[in-house]
Amino acid sequence: MYDVVIIGAGVVGSAIARELARYNGSVCVIDKEEDVCSGTSKANSAIVHAGFDAYPGSLKAKFNVEGSKMMEDLSRELDFPYQRNGSLIVCTKDQDRSVLEQLMAQGVENGVEGLRIVEEEELRSMEPNLAEDVTCALFAPTGAIVCPFHMTIAFAENAADNGVEFFLNTKVDCIEKTKDGYRILAGDQVYESRAVVNAAGVYADVINNMVSEKKLHITPRRGQYELLDKAVGDYVTHTIFQLPTKMGKGVLVTPTVHGNLLVGPTAEDIENKEGTNTTGEGLELLGKMASLSVKDVPLRQVITSFAGLRAHEDGNDFVIGEAEDAKNFFNAAGIESPGLSSAPAIGVFLAKEIADKLSLGEKKEFNGTRKGILNPNALNMEERNQLIQKNPSYGQIVCRCETVTEGEIIDAITRTLGARSLDGVKRRTRAGMGRCQAGFCSPRVMELLEKHADLSVYEVTKCGGEGVIVYGRNKEI
Ligand SMILES: Cc1cc2nc3c(=O)[nH]c(=O)nc-3n(C[C@H](O)[C@H](O)[C@H](O)COP(=O)(O)OP(=O)(O)OC[C@H]3O[C@@H](n4cnc5c(N)ncnc54)[C@H](O)[C@@H]3O)c2cc1C
Repeated sequence: MYDVVIIGAGVVGSAIARELARYNGSVCVIDKEEDVCSGTSKANSAIVHAGFDAYPGSLKAKFNVEGSKMMEDLSRELDFPYQRNGSLIVCTKDQDRSVLEQLMAQGVENGVEGLRIVEEEELRSMEPNLAEDVTCALFAPTGAIVCPFHMTIAFAENAADNGVEFFLNTKVDCIEKTKDGYRILAGDQVYESRAVVNAAGVYADVINNMVSEKKLHITPRRGQYELLDKAVGDYVTHTIFQLPTKMGKGVLVTPTVHGNLLVGPTAEDIENKEGTNTTGEGLELLGKMASLSVKDVPLRQVITSFAGLRAHEDGNDFVIGEAEDAKNFFNAAGIESPGLSSAPAIGVFLAKEIADKLSLGEKKEFNGTRKGILNPNALNMEERNQLIQKNPSYGQIVCRCETVTEGEIIDAITRTLGARSLDGVKRRTRAGMGRCQAGFCSPRVMELLEKHADLSVYEVTKCGGEGVIVYGRNKEI
């Protein structure tokens, strides 16, 4: 019998797991996918929002501002990339400047520090590539960018290193109330638990509705993106937002922590909770929308496109806490944007609430620090040479676009909650994320998976499921 079962190994479930690991008690995380960070947490804008655009008094505002304040220290403790590049919300000559002023007032009320309106001359010296029609902007110096994969994986690894168990490829089908808590049925597996946390992303309504009569309804709101080559990664240096509407924050143009340029997202309500495909119309719209704030966005440099699904709950706010009619069943539902920014604070809040309810004491041996995969590019030449002498696999480049070495890939496969697929390796090391999009390195990564993950090459997949890559030997099938 577990004390707590968490459903969902996205950034929210993983952050809660890591915070619960501070307490005595048995905790496990269940996810239907083959790896952590396989849902919305892998496909978003990767912005740590300052916290000005959520409505004052809302849970979004509270957790966003708290999470944003925690993020820099966390990035050091857990070793994930974070950069405070600042955000600019631009206003054009046809738009209403008073909306910008309202946003600033809202931000001040939410507790966001350092907000100010920047006039055209200063603005153009900060960002020379803004569109001609832009006249002023709200500057949020605490806005930042982060690596969403590394952040989520860091939470999960640190939770696992502190005793949390993870069960992947395990889909929760049904939850029954029992005398002592809950019985969770997942395929042929059964988990008994005193408490359950629902962090199931776009499926959080389905999970909640298995247990509670207070029904939730989540609409997947798709956001499509284009990712541009590092050659144009510094086209803007701040995150350039447009004035928000009720469908979202408009199309942004931003550098990423890894040096690319990101353009997106669209905002389309769809039915399909797995509908992460991009569309011709969506991608075309991105170019048009982006040009309203940034001129001549170099879209010829697009290297890939992708889409993620916001978990939009009808109440338009996060649903966090114990369900009214289901004792010890805790929701972290409707976590759409700014969910990535809010995850650290949601984790602290819910873990404390659950620990109090279950009377779990603090665990003395908790270790909150974690070291990420060693990146030889971050070393100077002398250090790199020493590393290669000690371990020659750091001298073997596997992914030429992103200069990822064999040593890094082996580390990604063999560490806690190691990668078991091409995408798992990609999210941990960036092998396959560059200009050729895995065209050259996939066969070599597959060999390394075969050798170090105890998989046959016929079992290696791109991202789990049935879709293997190699079916047999040439001329034998
Ligand atoms: C287009 C877009 C842009 C965004 N931009 C930002 C941004 O810039 N900044 C920001 O702060 N936030 C942003 N967000 C929001 C942020 O990405 C999400 O709030 C966050 O990733 C949600 O994390 P999660 O853990 O709740 O969900 P997920 O990452 O989706 O995790 C849920 C997990 O639950 C699992 N699951 C579901 N059902 C079951 C089941 N039955 N059994 C077992 N497992 C199950 C899934 O497999 C999944 O892994 C954006 C979102 C989108 C879509």
